[in-house]
Amino acid sequence: MTAILIDGKAFAASIREKVAAHVARLKADHDITPGLAVVLVGEDPASQVYVRNKGKQTVEVGMASFEHRLDADTSEADLLALVDRLNNDPSVHGILVQLPLPDHLDSDLVINSIDPAKDVDGFHISNVGLLGTGQKSMVPCTPLGCLMMLRDHYGSLSGLNAVVIGRSNIVGKPMAQLLLGDSATVTIAHSRTKDLPDVVRGADIVVAAVGRPEMVPGDWIKPGATVIDVGINRVPNGEKTKLVGDVDFASAVEVAGAITPVPGGVGPMTIACLLANTVTAACRANGVDEPEGLTA
Ligand code: NAD
Repeated sequence: MTAILIDGKAFAASIREKVAAHVARLKADHDITPGLAVVLVGEDPASQVYVRNKGKQTVEVGMASFEHRLDADTSEADLLALVDRLNNDPSVHGILVQLPLPDHLDSDLVINSIDPAKDVDGFHISNVGLLGTGQKSMVPCTPLGCLMMLRDHYGSLSGLNAVVIGRSNIVGKPMAQLLLGDSATVTIAHSRTKDLPDVVRGADIVVAAVGRPEMVPGDWIKPGATVIDVGINRVPNGEKTKLVGDVDFASAVEVAGAITPVPGGVGPMTIACLLANTVTAACRANGVDEPEGLTA
């Protein structure tokens, strides 16, 4: 059996189209231009690439992009003051503070200083609580993208056995909450899980979010299962390097029913969902209809 490839690149493009159409309607009907502010502290090369891509795609869908680049030695007080200004700026509907922050800054404190209604990353403790209690919230972008792909593939996730490998606050835990919200039977596996292969073999849906290259081989996968590979790992490839996921794609593709490739699977969905969250936040802030199908 060869699995269906879930094309995250094409899916993300379709989300961006929906976002752009809604942005155009917001402008025409309500004179609202959704705005996303991204704050980058320091010069982490990977973060710089993410921030550049976010800014570019924000503008491409017709939204306003505000970039704030701060020195690596920026004080916590200065960063909190910037967040406070953005919280009070009516042209800003979404605020994202790029993580990781330099060590001298308290990430939890900074994230929890963002207005929850503008917290388009969905990391504020209020949004975490709202998601956990099944209430309307801002949903973390990467798990939201995974959920959208799974809903598209299955229609309903009700009663399916899902295993999420990884329990981070940004991927594993919110992913599990979202699957539970869609009535899947959810197991969260992590570094202390016993008999991980057996746990994974019982799953109709496997979401791997570990950060260990190709750790999930095909013989852990139940035939016909759907595999969502969140991992992004750079590994040596001759003289160069290449990106691989947390799943051994070559063996898993022979067993799974559907699988996301790396690159081109979950990765492109993350920024698309950030744009979706920003337009949703702009609609909620102005009391106008939010786009359908762009949130959990
Ligand atoms: P993290 O390091 O915060 O969490 C990793 C989790 O994996 C932990 O909960 C840990 O318990 C678990 N784990 C570690 N070793 C394990 C093992 N041997 N068996 C089972 N579980 C184990 O990582 P994260 O931020 O959740 O990211 C996970 C991966 O997803 C990384 O490769 C990261 O680059 C990638 N990622 C991708 C996107 C995207 O846009 N596609 C977004 C976020 C993260």
